[in-house]
Parts: sequence; structure tokens; C-alpha cells
Amino acid sequence: MLNLILFGPPGAGKGTQADFLIEKFKLIHLSTGDLLRSQIAEGTKLGLEAKKFMDRGDLVPDEVVIGMIESKLASNKDANGFIFDGFPRTVAQAKALDELLNKNGTPVSGMLSLEVEKEELVNRLLNRGKISGRSDDQDVSIIENRIQVYHEKTSPLKDYYAAQNKQFSINGMGSIEEIAGRLSETVSAL
Ligand code: ADP
Repeated sequence: MLNLILFGPPGAGKGTQADFLIEKFKLIHLSTGDLLRSQIAEGTKLGLEAKKFMDRGDLVPDEVVIGMIESKLASNKDANGFIFDGFPRTVAQAKALDELLNKNGTPVSGMLSLEVEKEELVNRLLNRGKISGRSDDQDVSIIENRIQVYHEKTSPLKDYYAAQNKQFSINGMGSIEEIAGRLSETVSAL
């Protein structure tokens, strides 16, 4: 079983590259951002609560996203593996994920960290905002907050997985195909 964590700041290209990796390695895509946005679209209580945090560019509370991931793992018991996209984002989430996966005897295979320069991140997010209409991608101060939250709370996870010899940095600058090639090479060697 292949359990990949696709990691990187907002705008690093996680969603785009996840589409490629799920196809190539026959994995199930679990994006907490997508799961939260569908809860908002359905108007559920969880969605309404999460929206307050997302609109500011802050993280949704750990127990909310951990609960969502737990139920997705439970309902996909026969999967070949998973791509975690946008999760974990805090050390508490990483510990919870390790616990859930280790309990099933299917630990994290590797964490692939897409490295992209900050100026490029902001440009990609603003461009995405124009196309997708996502409000958190249309306001520079919300984007800046998300990047800051990433540096404060999320980037320490690189050390967390490095300590388990599972962290791989991938150059996330260049064409979609070039980056996909780099990821594919790393995953094939796991
Ligand atoms: P991006 O990586 O471009 O910021 P996402 O779709 O992954 O986009 O996340 C959008 C928002 O959803 C985040 O800013 C955050 O508020 C919330 N979110 C997504 N995943 C998590 C998570 N694992 N923990 C806490 N909040 C999350």
C-alpha cells in the first residue's frame, strides 16, 4: 500500500500534481480543502463552522479535519493507497494520521514536499482565484496569512517526517510535466 503525503505551501501545485499521481499509481485522493469546500456547498453544520476559519485563511480546528480523514479511511478499506493533499497541516494532525495508519498496518510511505518561491505562490493563487472564484485566493492579505500560517504551523512537519526518514523535497518550479516527472521518479523509488 502506497500512502503519500503531498506537501507544500498554498499554491505549490498539490492539487494539480495529485491528479497526475492518482492516475499513475491508482490512489485515492483525500484533499481536506476539497472535503471542507463540499461541506460548505452542502450547507452542513461542519461546513458553516469551517467556513469562518477558511475565509480568514486560518486553519480549521484539528479535530474537525482529523474526523473527516478518519471516516474517509474507514470507508475506503480496499484502496491501493491514498494521496493526502493539504493534510496533515499541524503536528497534532500528523500524529493522528500516524496513529490511524499504523493501526491498520499501512504507514505513511513518504512525504513529498513541493518547494516553490513565495512570489510564484502569490501569482499562482491570484490566477487561480480569477478562474475558480475561490474568495480566499482573491485577496492578497488572506493569501499572505495562509503563507504565514504555513510557515508557523505546517512547515515544521518536514522535520517530523525527516526524523522518520520519509521526507523528500521536490523542486516545484517549472512546467507541470517537469514537476510530475520529478515526483514520479521519487515515488517509484520508495
Ligand atoms: P491551499 O493549499 O491552496 O491553501 P486548501 O484547499 O488545501 O488550499 O485549503 C483551503 C483552506 O481549508 C485552508 O486555508 C484552511 O482554512 C482549510 N484547511 C484545509 N485543510 C486543512 C487542514 N488539514 N487543517 C486545517 N485547515 C485546513
